[in-house]
Amino acid sequence: MLTYEEALAKILSQAQPLMPVQTPLAEALGLILAEDLAASHDLPPFDNSSMDGFAVRAADITVNEAVLPVQGDIAAGALSIPTLRPQMALRIMTGAPVPDGADTVVPVEDTEMRGENVAFLEQAERGQHIRRRGEEVRSGTVVVPQGSRLRPAEIGMAATVGRAEVLAHPRPRVAVVSTGDELVEPGTQLQRGQIYNSNAYALAAQVEEAGGIVVHKLHARDTPEALRTAFDRCAGADVLITSGGVSVGGFDYVKAVFAERGTVGFWKVAIRPGKPLAFGQWDSTLFFGLPGNPVSSMVTFELFVRPTLRKMAGHSALARPEVQVRLAEEASHTPGRRSYQRAIVTREGSGYSACTTGAQGSGMLRSMVLANALLILPSDVALFPVGAKVSALLLDEITSS
Ligand code: AMP
Ligand code: MG
Repeated sequence: MLTYEEALAKILSQAQPLMPVQTPLAEALGLILAEDLAASHDLPPFDNSSMDGFAVRAADITVNEAVLPVQGDIAAGALSIPTLRPQMALRIMTGAPVPDGADTVVPVEDTEMRGENVAFLEQAERGQHIRRRGEEVRSGTVVVPQGSRLRPAEIGMAATVGRAEVLAHPRPRVAVVSTGDELVEPGTQLQRGQIYNSNAYALAAQVEEAGGIVVHKLHARDTPEALRTAFDRCAGADVLITSGGVSVGGFDYVKAVFAERGTVGFWKVAIRPGKPLAFGQWDSTLFFGLPGNPVSSMVTFELFVRPTLRKMAGHSALARPEVQVRLAEEASHTPGRRSYQRAIVTREGSGYSACTTGAQGSGMLRSMVLANALLILPSDVALFPVGAKVSALLLDEITSS
């Protein structure tokens, strides 16, 4: 049996960040930047007013309640900017260029109109309320380094420096194939012996949540022909995920059919759920044969597929955040394999406490619905009393208890 770490390391050694592509900003959210983004010009690009007010020469308003005639207006975006004449004021809007001749902006709140003239009620400091060219960033400075995740702020910064596209790692393109003669589509009628295909939907959602794109979502019956047809339609995907059909049941052909196309290993990993895991490669497509039980399929996706998709997408942090939790209820398992039990983690003082979601059957999807974390129970201990400290992988936000 492989440890989880050994299995993951083998998988990740076959996964590489996808070739970066020029990506329009509107499609770049969440991607990893594959270049240093540098300012193409000074920021701000010109001296401009940070207030609505009046551009003046500080020397013209040193007397108490100085009054100056208003020479005109400068709106933000104005292309022709008058030069400020001596002993006059120009009305200026936030973001508008500071005119030649002016060295100070007085906010409108500190002034009062007197007919055509403006009176200055407060003392002004020379240079106030002017955002200087280049005060934030000088032309050529890196404003977002390579490897950054493109959040709204980074996308805004790319636009600020004039970029319509950025070089970024693309989302991995993932094909999801669910297998099983017992499965029918939600929305149709169930016959005795049938269940709804939930893995296809849960896995597709996990792919998207992990930053991938689902390019195929197919269902195959438990025959070699059906699997061949489905796999061939998935050729060229970055990752192919199957659910079911990898145990030792009589109709489990996934591995054999995959082996006709690429290399595949059938691994026993010392974890629960998810001991059987098929992993292989077909040209540049990585193949994961996940177990069919709904919880096993979701947990093995979390443990193996999600880090792989993140590596392909260029992330450096591949794992979910891991925290130490104090058990608020006893937890137990059969030793020999490490368990990933579905759990609810809450804040407790400056730390965290956790209890499991109850029954942990690998077919019980409710255990995932209730969970925001996976509790990691080490393989060598059976019983974890109340108060014991264990690790948990955070799958979701932590709500207050
Ligand atoms: P298998 O690994 O194909 O033997 O499936 C193991 C268990 O998971 C069986 O009870 C299947 O009915 C169930 N199962 C397999 N695939 C799915 C699926 N796509 N949706 C829901 N349950 C599934
Ligand atoms: Mg099956």
